[in-house]
Amino acid sequence: MVSPGGEPCHSGFKKGCAAKDFIIGTLMPDPLHLSETKRLAPYLQYQNLSQYHQLKHGTFTRHGGTSDFPYASLNTSDEVGDDRKDVAENLTIIKKTMGAERIFFTRQTHGIEILVLRADIIETFGNSYQADAMITNIPGLGLMIKQADCQAVILFDPRKNVVANVHCGWRGNVQNILARTVRKMVHGFDCSAANLVAAIAPSLGPCCAEFKTHRDIFPATFEDFMVTESHFDLWRLSTHQLVMAGVDPDNITVSGICTRCHTDRFFSYRGEGTTGRFGTVVMLT
Ligand SMILES: [Zn+2]
Repeated sequence: MVSPGGEPCHSGFKKGCAAKDFIIGTLMPDPLHLSETKRLAPYLQYQNLSQYHQLKHGTFTRHGGTSDFPYASLNTSDEVGDDRKDVAENLTIIKKTMGAERIFFTRQTHGIEILVLRADIIETFGNSYQADAMITNIPGLGLMIKQADCQAVILFDPRKNVVANVHCGWRGNVQNILARTVRKMVHGFDCSAANLVAAIAPSLGPCCAEFKTHRDIFPATFEDFMVTESHFDLWRLSTHQLVMAGVDPDNITVSGICTRCHTDRFFSYRGEGTTGRFGTVVMLT
């Protein structure tokens, strides 16, 4: 890969490359090149984020797309066995519904890579396309996290106009990717943690977040979030991690919808095994 007029970009990026020059188109083929659509899909919103006119956001359900069983119908992932054309059409529907110029996503690996997309400079930390959090101040760029039980956590600084979207499963909690992302917003974009507004999307609830091997995989401090011998309240854990990172608890919304209990509305890996991934998107306008 070569940047316009520059040296080959390692990992696909080069510090100083202007965003419009190459980065976004390089990262993902624009689904609108494949098709146009007038279809729109339903999505949920979070009250604490809805009040900001400079922000668009939504958690899409499994409905309103084109994929067949077991990916029916608005599956966003082409890594789970679904037909790529259907996935592309689904992404087009999401893009159209959000009114986004681009929908941006990464390969989520339950790691701690944070992809930073700035209007002035593009930087990556670690491997470029693999990341479990994205931060941007670029309007029109929809950041999408794909989910099937894991959390998507939206973070927004209304004073600095910076957004992040974080993929946080239990491994994300163990590595505290939420605090890492907050710190990156503070140090990279001059955000204030106290100003951040956050929302935790539908995901595995305390009813279904069972970890029989928790003594092997969780730090002892997670026992504060146990609700039974082996069930954990990951919503409360993520809220705690955000608050410890400086986020005001009054600024955090938890959807409180368990994906495994609501496979009629959302994809659930634990509930269904082979299934799709629904999308949570946030975008500056
Ligand atoms: Zn449940």
